[in-house]
Amino acid sequence: MVNQFRNPKYEQPVFKCSKCNLVTSHKTSCVNESGTLTPIVNELSSTLDTFDKHLHQIFLSICNNCSSKSIWLRSRYGHELKIFPPVSTSDFPEPHSDMPDQVKKTYNEAGEIRMLSPRASAALSRLALEQLLTHLGYTDPTLYKKIESLIAHGNVDTYLAQSLEVVRNFGNSGAHAGEIQLEEDPSITNFLLELLNIIVDRLISHPKRTEKLYNSIPDNKRRSSPAQKVTK
Ligand SMILES: [Zn+2]
Repeated sequence: MVNQFRNPKYEQPVFKCSKCNLVTSHKTSCVNESGTLTPIVNELSSTLDTFDKHLHQIFLSICNNCSSKSIWLRSRYGHELKIFPPVSTSDFPEPHSDMPDQVKKTYNEAGEIRMLSPRASAALSRLALEQLLTHLGYTDPTLYKKIESLIAHGNVDTYLAQSLEVVRNFGNSGAHAGEIQLEEDPSITNFLLELLNIIVDRLISHPKRTEKLYNSIPDNKRRSSPAQKVTK
């Protein structure tokens, strides 16, 4: 979470409570404004580049619904990170059951790292897309070319083409000035994973299911159907 406590839209920050799971407001207070670090915080900050030597404040937030507490770090540059309770690494959409194993491995890595590094997560989602298209036989040297070949091959509507481009683009740049910043909206990384599942469904599952049912139509009916004109 970035700048949760500075969002001017809310008098109190609103986010999903990890205890009661409600998106609700939280009371917040500064625990330590002196900059003096406890040994635990020192140990944590040494593992996180963003906060290493740049810790500014520690915040306590209390859920207005269930009163559970969470503890946050804020860097001198406004980055905010929840350190307690720990962020669940499994809180992201399940990979599609038809997703190839190698792609699934990269997908899960993208999901597990998304809160710590949204840009690394987006880059892994992009890699998963590239692996998926390679699996489907698109061997062009770049993801751009693979998508171009897929579109030239047909069966890609505007929505699917845009989905492919969103995953490619956000994974490529992560964040550029003037564009949507991943760090300001980490939910985008979850959306990229959802898009990957939709892409798997459209490119693998949907054709597989449709073809199975189409082939169950009696031969004579299939031969005289309008679909036969486009079926290979
Ligand atoms: Zn709560």
